[in-house]
Amino acid sequence: MVFISEVYLVWEVLEELSVRGCVQGFRLRLGEEVMNSKIFKDIFKKYSRGTIFENVEVLVEQIPSTYGCECGYFRNSSLSDKQNKRCPRCDDRLKLFRGEEFELVDVY
Ligand SMILES: [Zn+2]
Repeated sequence: MVFISEVYLVWEVLEELSVRGCVQGFRLRLGEEVMNSKIFKDIFKKYSRGTIFENVEVLVEQIPSTYGCECGYFRNSSLSDKQNKRCPRCDDRLKLFRGEEFELVDVY
């Protein structure tokens, strides 16, 4: 399952940093294509129960998927219209411009 590996990557960083001091929270930029922010938070909460990260503050900035075309057309895409990847103006294939971010911005 893909979503487990994202949580695991964050977890590893937190473990490393917690050796040097207490981790109180972290901030993550998360593309919609990678994972829904609520799902990430839910899994993290579940994992951290009964561990030193149980009360860590989880701040997730969800980056919405943005599709675009060479002709200048752009749209924010919800998960429901993922199937429709043709430009409505010129019928070219739409490219993903944003939505694949996975970045641990801050740990405090
Ligand atoms: Zn186009």
